[in-house]
Amino acid sequence: MLYKYETHAHTSQTSKCSRITGSELARFYKSLGYSGLFVTDHFFNGNTTVPRELDWEERVRLFELGYLDAKAEGDRIGLDVFFGWEYSWGGNDFLIYGLGVDWLLANPDQLSLRPREYMQKVRADGGLVIHAHPFREAGYIESIKLIPRDVDGVEVINSSRPESENSPAFWYAKNYNLLRSAGSDNHIGKRELLAGVYLPEKIATSQDFVKLLKDGRAEIFCDRYDPDGKRL
Ligand SMILES: [Zn+2]
Ligand SMILES: [Zn+2]
Repeated sequence: MLYKYETHAHTSQTSKCSRITGSELARFYKSLGYSGLFVTDHFFNGNTTVPRELDWEERVRLFELGYLDAKAEGDRIGLDVFFGWEYSWGGNDFLIYGLGVDWLLANPDQLSLRPREYMQKVRADGGLVIHAHPFREAGYIESIKLIPRDVDGVEVINSSRPESENSPAFWYAKNYNLLRSAGSDNHIGKRELLAGVYLPEKIATSQDFVKLLKDGRAEIFCDRYDPDGKRL
């Protein structure tokens, strides 16, 4: 038996660019037979709804609202919901897993670290860093940045990005011997393509995901759906 997980999704409570609430995301993935969902909203250096002027704790409390909404609904309907976040560096994005809100609260100075120092601290504290869509190109992205010594893995399939950006991500992971993950970067719910990971056991915490990924026991997938939402 394999268990299906979304690793990359955004709630409208916390990510400015998302059009789906946490509870709607939970219901959507439950309806497709998933076991769980990681909510990875844009952090304070990304496209967040959280005002900058508040103090650190208030900002973290607002940041977790989308996750908490997904989690409450997940608990009700039987979908496991986990916390993560997406850290931005000049248009380059890094998914953080394995650390919780307690870590955010305990490190109010974290955004004064240089980005690579940030990754090093996250990893030293037990978190996992996955470079999301590393070859994404867009007008606002100054340059493609690869920091292979400071990440654990690469999102080799981001189903919201074209094949031309995903295939070099496979090369990147292989060439530098990095872990491979996949996710949908879901901001809307129903999509033609959904990517994620199959895990061989049901996980209880985001640390369990980190361990299975590091042990090479996560299997990436990308599914195609018809316009009625039926898996092809
Ligand atoms: Zn977004
Ligand atoms: Zn994202």
